Amino acid sequence: MDNIRHVISVSGGKDSAATLLLALERCPREAVVPIFCDTGNEHQAVYEYLTYLEQALDITIHRLKADFSEQIAAKRRFIARDQRTRRVNGRRVRWSNKAKRRALEVLHPTGNPFLDLCLWKGRFPSRKAQFCTEELKRNMAVSFQIDLIDADYRVVSWQGVRRDESLNRRNAKKIERIGPSLYAFRPLVEWTAMQVFDYCASKNLRPNPLYSQGCNRVGCMPCINVSKMELREIASRWPEHIARISEWEHMVGCVSKRGASTFLTDSHDAADRREVFADLNIHARVDWSKTSRGGKQYDMLAFLEPVACSSAYGLCE
Ligand code: SF4
Repeated sequence: MDNIRHVISVSGGKDSAATLLLALERCPREAVVPIFCDTGNEHQAVYEYLTYLEQALDITIHRLKADFSEQIAAKRRFIARDQRTRRVNGRRVRWSNKAKRRALEVLHPTGNPFLDLCLWKGRFPSRKAQFCTEELKRNMAVSFQIDLIDADYRVVSWQGVRRDESLNRRNAKKIERIGPSLYAFRPLVEWTAMQVFDYCASKNLRPNPLYSQGCNRVGCMPCINVSKMELREIASRWPEHIARISEWEHMVGCVSKRGASTFLTDSHDAADRREVFADLNIHARVDWSKTSRGGKQYDMLAFLEPVACSSAYGLCE
């Protein structure tokens, strides 16, 4: 039917690549609309893989990027004018003049969605407050789909979700009506990771090279939910990403009222934020990732250079 658009959220990973292949196989080409929500916290290999997909499949992937300039401008106004007198637990709520000066110097849009989101919020996302997914991916995809619905299309949102991926996804439905003219379709719900790789291989589509370099999923580099082993692998292979996160920690710390914020976890009961930062900043976490036995002993294997494929999926040929 002419008024249906099949929107495929492409992440640069295997599941969304397989989903895109299925959509192109089953639907008229002109009705397939691939999108990519760029978080700005991606590995270069992801952008290169998107270009590869476009060339291999003869398609265009729409790049969507969140913009937080207005929110940052509003926060600047708020901080500059903050004169609150209220106290909570004996502590003043308002920004001190010193904190105001520190924040206003740094608080400007950078054009990087992930960093600008954290500058606006004055903190990094965490497992308990995972606002990155919502602000950088979900909201972007939903507003793209709403624009299509406003233009009189019915939209099917294809999602590369598998039930065996996580407990949260174990009950994922294959087809679901989300709202008027909007449906979710998850063709891979019953597939395993290996089936996905095999299917892509059967269509001569190569996987993102990050899978053969120690990543068991492709997403932010690093993700706030990165495992100890992945963090160790990232620090060893791509130290420039650790250096970038360290720079972001400095910037986000400056716009935080408390003066410090860490990328990997922001929940720490110490009252002194400098102590928290010293324990949990990205370099301290990388050091911890190289330890074994509850973080006490250094694991000698961690100091060896990565020389071979360490894919969690055994993709090495
Ligand atoms: S991949 Fe991780 S850091 Fe990136 S948006 Fe998703 S949860 Fe947040």
